[in-house]
Amino acid sequence: MSSLLLTGIGQLVTNDPGVGDGSPLGLLPDAALVIEGGRLAWLGPAAEAPEADQARDVGGRAVVPGFVDSHSHLVFAGDRSAEFAARMAGQAYEAGGIATTVAATRAAPDEALAAGVARHVEEMRRQGTTTVEIKSGYGLTRLDEARSLAVARQFTEETTFLGAHVVPPEYADDPAGYVALVTGPMLEACAPFARWIDVFCERGAFDADQARTILAAGRAAGLGGRLHANQLGPGPGVQLACELGLVAVDHCTHLSGEDVSALRESGTVATLLPGVEFSTRSSYPDARGLVDAGVTVALATDCNPGSCYTSSMPLCIALAVREMHLTPAEALWSATAGGARALGRDDLGRLAPGGRADVIVLDAPSYVHLAYRPGVPLVIEVLGPAGGGGFPTGV
Ligand SMILES: [Zn+2]
Repeated sequence: MSSLLLTGIGQLVTNDPGVGDGSPLGLLPDAALVIEGGRLAWLGPAAEAPEADQARDVGGRAVVPGFVDSHSHLVFAGDRSAEFAARMAGQAYEAGGIATTVAATRAAPDEALAAGVARHVEEMRRQGTTTVEIKSGYGLTRLDEARSLAVARQFTEETTFLGAHVVPPEYADDPAGYVALVTGPMLEACAPFARWIDVFCERGAFDADQARTILAAGRAAGLGGRLHANQLGPGPGVQLACELGLVAVDHCTHLSGEDVSALRESGTVATLLPGVEFSTRSSYPDARGLVDAGVTVALATDCNPGSCYTSSMPLCIALAVREMHLTPAEALWSATAGGARALGRDDLGRLAPGGRADVIVLDAPSYVHLAYRPGVPLVIEVLGPAGGGGFPTGV
């Protein structure tokens, strides 16, 4: 097994407060690290670096943990750019727009769905994402949800059954019948390919009682629960997530003081998806207030063809800083360690000896440039076990 020494790291972000400056990012200047077999064999001051089979000097650039994108909807077909253009021209976004993607996804063969996921995962990886969660939710039949998850499972172990995305048109008059399908035969077909179950708990989608029923069925089938909640307006979803002790509740755009207290007390991660507010021209969640209240915040893309078609975690970091008043340090932490927490994973989102070598090199002297230089492709190398050799593009 050959080893690689990366040296000349101007700033290493470890997300280990026991390292370096003692901050949550665990910053180490003038650092080096050694990767062997997809694992970090060593990290520390460059002057103390051990020998390795290969060595590369990154020329004072910053190295940070790979991004953990804990919320995406990559299994889909079709194009909704016309809907986006209409929305930008003044039409309001409504949850029902999902139905257009459902029709296209049902009509697409497995190979086409897999090719689409592959393209988006590659696009994410080029932008520094080393772990992605992928949901179903555009099939909404037993067969189409199961094959969506089988496709997603080819790319990540973090797969989520979202049969409860929206009630499909054929059940418009029988939402209870659809919930029975989701919690019965559809769940049975999907559970073997899923780690999580999710519900879009929102006006126009599923109410709190339906969400509770669906999450309970998922839990009985061995799946962890997650929720889309409080996106389009205030609602009961965040309280439900906290009451059930879910690992994460996503969106959290419209929160009451009681919601924030419940998040703090339950430890449920609030996953914020600022690309959605950006792409729907909506007001942003109060990330600053959540962090100040002691809530754990994650950032994710929500990459999907309707409300937010960006795959870029650096864009989400920039938006979190510019629009939601997180510091660059808080935003990077939320996009890495926060995402790991939102997936209940302690092996992701940080760099430590013996751990996964999900490492990205920025063409910048500091991680601050991720927010300081929005829209600039700063990720020039991605290393880690998921893709083997990574994408050396310039170092
Ligand atoms: Zn979503």
